Amino acid sequence: MSKPKVGIFGLTGCAGDELAILNLEDELLDLAAAVDIIDFPMAMSGNDQEAPLDVAFVEGSVVTSHDVKTLKKIRERASLLVAIGTCAVWGGVPALANEISREELKRKVYGEAGKDFDSIPAQPLSSFVRVDFNIPGCPMEKNQFLKAVASLLHGDLPLLPTYAVCTECKMKENICLLKEKDQLCLGPITVAGCEALCPSHGIPCQGCRGPLEEANIASEAKLFREKGYTVEDIQKRLRAFAAPAEVIQSFVSKE
Ligand code: SF4
Ligand code: SF4
Repeated sequence: MSKPKVGIFGLTGCAGDELAILNLEDELLDLAAAVDIIDFPMAMSGNDQEAPLDVAFVEGSVVTSHDVKTLKKIRERASLLVAIGTCAVWGGVPALANEISREELKRKVYGEAGKDFDSIPAQPLSSFVRVDFNIPGCPMEKNQFLKAVASLLHGDLPLLPTYAVCTECKMKENICLLKEKDQLCLGPITVAGCEALCPSHGIPCQGCRGPLEEANIASEAKLFREKGYTVEDIQKRLRAFAAPAEVIQSFVSKE
């Protein structure tokens, strides 16, 4: 039986998710044995840039019209398209700049020459094409990528956590940085999967994995307020990894 054909691509991002795949070390040979990676421009030469793909993994946000064209071509080739990393899933750090117009941004950064640059407001893949599955994280966790590949090889869509970072934090028996130390930790409203990496090192969660779908925003807004944080404090932190506008806005409406 032929192996599934896989492509791994990067749009505009730091390449951290592609590097996470290359850094699989112990598992990389098994991965190469289980799937046929035919197009991985960052890591290989001689790529087949036209053949149909069973699965395309795509990192990075869409920041140029060239990205849009590249993404649409990948979508046409792929039976399944998986967004890897927070930039691809939510827009990520590049979307931080979306609060000012592109024209103004280009002028500020590049001066007069900026008007010639191909640049659009940073957006997630799902703004342009159908995305079959998301693996968030900045970068994504390698175990989640491997679990996703294993599920896809069995013909299933992967199951990733649908609970908050706090759940993993409690399982590790960490002291709560929000309740015990009054720090602005976004663990209650951030989707789990990192095993509470930052709070386990005494650092508040910055929300890099993106918002939890069923977060209790009203309750969290109340708790943050009790700890002395303003709406602006919370929104500023949420913006760092491009939480969607409705999540950021919801902290105003719950005040
Ligand atoms: S430290 Fe942060 S992630 Fe951990 S339980 Fe407290 S609020 Fe949740
Ligand atoms: S604890 Fe929060 S900021 Fe840290 S890796 Fe996990 S989701 Fe990202």
